[in-house]
Amino acid sequence: MNDIINRAERALRHDLCDHCLGRLFAQVESGTTNKERGRDMRIAVALDRGARSEELPPHESCWLCEDLFEQLPRFAEAAAQKLSEIEYDTFLIGTRVDPILQDREEQLWSEAGGETAEPIKAELNREIGKLVEARVRKEVDFTSPDVVALVDTRFGHVELNIAPLFIYGRYRKHSREIPQTRWPCRMCRGKGCKRCGGTGKMYQDSVQECIGDPLVREAEGRDHFFHGMGREDIDARMLGTGRPFVLEIAEPKKRHLDLREMERLANENGKGLADFSELRWSTREEVRQIKAATPDKVYRAEVSIQGKVNKDRMDEVIESLNQARITQQTPTRVAHRRADLARERTIRELAIESLEEDKLVLRLRTESGTYVKEFVSGDGGRTVPSLAGSLGVPCQVTALDVIQIIDNANEG
Ligand SMILES: [Zn+2]
Ligand SMILES: [Zn+2]
Repeated sequence: MNDIINRAERALRHDLCDHCLGRLFAQVESGTTNKERGRDMRIAVALDRGARSEELPPHESCWLCEDLFEQLPRFAEAAAQKLSEIEYDTFLIGTRVDPILQDREEQLWSEAGGETAEPIKAELNREIGKLVEARVRKEVDFTSPDVVALVDTRFGHVELNIAPLFIYGRYRKHSREIPQTRWPCRMCRGKGCKRCGGTGKMYQDSVQECIGDPLVREAEGRDHFFHGMGREDIDARMLGTGRPFVLEIAEPKKRHLDLREMERLANENGKGLADFSELRWSTREEVRQIKAATPDKVYRAEVSIQGKVNKDRMDEVIESLNQARITQQTPTRVAHRRADLARERTIRELAIESLEEDKLVLRLRTESGTYVKEFVSGDGGRTVPSLAGSLGVPCQVTALDVIQIIDNANEG
């Protein structure tokens, strides 16, 4: 106890408010505020000096915080005001503090010992948070608040840091002319130029924009991001029960969205291009899982065969490639944006759906990451074995559909 009185004595060589005095001893005892603690310390110092408690060590203007704590109600009011502009259920208060104050605090710690102290920011965050909580009647959440209200204590400004919304869903893509995600123009990178006709985009539509544009409008957000469980080529359709994705909406002012209604809006906007189902709330953690997933896929491929192959020969080759292990060198068509390396993949199932003259329709189930077009064409010998290589005649995929993503929801 003597040590504590000594430290308080040393601290009180400066004019300190109760908050700043008490904060030095924040970790000595819990269950009280720094302000009360500071008051108690001031009395203890007075008693120790042999004075009566009316003659406390004086306080006029706090050397450390310049009586910043008297402004707590003003900060809380400003934060509550700013928060009232958006929809949220949980919040957290953060503060920016003049570095000069923090320097003085460190000086005080070196003079009077800082081992039981709490930084000024921590007290400001907590005390403003309590006042705001009482005003707005929403809960403080320390781990994942809907919004952080950042109070700049020098100027009283408040800035909101709004957590994104994550929405899970499955999409189907019916167009062979739109990419999965927004695709900025290569020439102007989105500014708008001659090549893109001033749109800033290589493709006017995308699955992402079909759902993202209406939802970001409803949520009054700043932007949207699309996290798909892999992606298909632009000219491939995505059918069956669709492909899982998470749509992220940045800085939403509204977060109480009716997802059934959002699904309706997305489907209306995507009409003819893409549709959406199973919308539900998601998390950043699920985004990680979706990006890391490696599901098998089932495809339907229309193949044009440039040469004569009889039915028996075709059956024999398909049989030999069923469950084959293939080696694929990075396809020439993507080599400009991916590292050139060889991967092994398994063709888990391969079957003929129909064969008429030079038109073959295949159904394949492949391991995640298999390049189906190259498995058919052989890609100039870069995929081995391949359909073309085994048949000894050139083959090309003329139309490709993903008909199932075998993720957890589609086991089997
Ligand atoms: Zn102070
Ligand atoms: Zn452009």
